[in-house]
Amino acid sequence: MNIKSAVFVKGVTGTNEIFEDNRPQIVLIGRSNVGKSTLINTLTNQKNLAKTSSFPGRTQQINIFLINNSFYLIDLPGYGFAKVPPQVKEKISKMIEWYLFRSGYDFKKVILIIDAKVGPTADDLAMYDSLRLASKDVIVVANKIDKLKKGDHLKQIEKINQAFENHRVIPFSAETKKGLGELTKEII
Ligand code: GDP
Repeated sequence: MNIKSAVFVKGVTGTNEIFEDNRPQIVLIGRSNVGKSTLINTLTNQKNLAKTSSFPGRTQQINIFLINNSFYLIDLPGYGFAKVPPQVKEKISKMIEWYLFRSGYDFKKVILIIDAKVGPTADDLAMYDSLRLASKDVIVVANKIDKLKKGDHLKQIEKINQAFENHRVIPFSAETKKGLGELTKEII
């Protein structure tokens, strides 16, 4: 099965009737600038569905996309950015924390996106631990894998695997489309 249609439904900052819809929700989370928007565009084969930006922290809402008219992709705001005011940072952290851990919404899977070259940051690992503690179904995506030198590939993936306790990690690149089939299968 493939992604045949993808539409932006709306951006929200809190509770919404869409979250009560009986269509499954697949959640995307990651540090700001990790390439989440680009990944959404690659997955859905659209140029501008999720607005990409080189300016971290611009997306300050939960963006909802309807895929194949059958499930939602929930794009949570990026965490861990440095260049936004503390109040904004706090607002975003609260929103993420609310949706993932307090809303009671029954989402199906969380795709945690990390930067393959940077490796897992303290924020990434803290997010992973919280998700596991809350018994969420997590898939880790090591993004921007094209940025690694060929010789560093295996070593870095191994390091990432270890950091996530040998949990499944999908190496991914929007540039080369590596991992696209694997991730699509996971999501659908
Ligand atoms: P977001 O803040 O997580 O939504 O990040 P964006 O999707 O806006 O991407 C941030 C930057 O990373 C942009 O300059 C993208 O072009 C770049 N980027 C995203 N995915 C990839 C990738 O797979 N490989 C490389 N080399 N760069 C990427």
